[in-house]
Amino acid sequence: MQTADKIFAYKVRAIDKRSIADSMFRIRPLPLNDELLSSWLIRTAYMHHSDPATFLNLYFPEYDYHLWDNDLDLYNQDSFINRLSQKTGYKKEIFYGMTLKSYEGWLSETIYYNNRNAFIMPIFRRKRNIRQHAQRVCPLCLKGDKQPYLRKKWRLFFSTACVKHKCFLIDKCPACGEPFVIHKRLYDGDFPHCRKCGFSFKNAEPEFISENSYGLKAIEKIYDILEKGMFEYENNYYYSFFFFYILNRFTNLIKGGYRKNLPVESGILENDELPVSNTPGIPFVMELDIKQQYVLFSALMRVFDNKDGIIRFCKDNRLTVKKLTKDLQYIPFWFSEIRDIMNKTKYSMNIIETQNAMIYLAKMGIKPNLKNLHKILGMSFAYK
Ligand SMILES: [Zn+2]
Ligand SMILES: [Zn+2]
Repeated sequence: MQTADKIFAYKVRAIDKRSIADSMFRIRPLPLNDELLSSWLIRTAYMHHSDPATFLNLYFPEYDYHLWDNDLDLYNQDSFINRLSQKTGYKKEIFYGMTLKSYEGWLSETIYYNNRNAFIMPIFRRKRNIRQHAQRVCPLCLKGDKQPYLRKKWRLFFSTACVKHKCFLIDKCPACGEPFVIHKRLYDGDFPHCRKCGFSFKNAEPEFISENSYGLKAIEKIYDILEKGMFEYENNYYYSFFFFYILNRFTNLIKGGYRKNLPVESGILENDELPVSNTPGIPFVMELDIKQQYVLFSALMRVFDNKDGIIRFCKDNRLTVKKLTKDLQYIPFWFSEIRDIMNKTKYSMNIIETQNAMIYLAKMGIKPNLKNLHKILGMSFAYK
């Protein structure tokens, strides 16, 4: 009897495996607050006592084990979402809401699937010369979770610290240094942990930040703009993506070396300095580590605090309108006033700068006339 049962069970399982592709998930957990789709899929797999890769292959054999090759939180596949909806009975909107595409209209006008979004962290390495980024987590948030899960916000470059626990987020294993790969694991359960050594991320020792640090306020301000979808500037309200558009431009101005009188927070980076960038074409945030990004957004949000701050920064750095608006496809209305003010600002070279430029030209065997001076100094002269 016992043997017959076993055979029967085996047969049922064999039949089951084929039909599983067309069946609904046995367990359909509700998405948690701000949860990423990948996190929800991994949790669901574990509830089925299954490895995330095996689980998806069982229910979606048509993808032949390749689903996790994609960044499932930024994956252009309507049919996958449709199938998820069928397998759970949840509306498609619930799944779209868990993807990073849901930031469209908030973070930027369009969220692209090709990993070229200004503030969304790519978690697959595409080019060798770019610093590898990985999914970030707050160890204390994970510790406090009934069911530890990954937040959507943790995929954004300005999410460098947890404002609730006032500590830096981590993106690699504190024990062995391996970058966090969300769906790969060493042993069953205890999500999330290091795939290499098994270290449980919730046990990571948090690195706390002084509660007076402006960087924490900066993150709160950015989150507030993102959540409201609006930002207030000089007593008017604008769509949040117009704010992020200009914020992105400023991150790259700082990459370009325009950082005179930038309010860099002290005590976080070595020598309190942001690194100098030498890779053309790579957005500045991509080149920075978590702490450097923390300091960058801390400084920028201070500059962005009001109109005077932005204008002061532009003047201190002798930013011409041409430089300020380079690469911008349009000037958002809130920023046009600043552009207009800068348009009226004429910089004149001081005598030392001009002398140095002439010495340089002479050394290079270039005629030190006005046209060539203009070329190397990159700005117009005030004729008086
Ligand atoms: Zn936290
Ligand atoms: Zn490890």
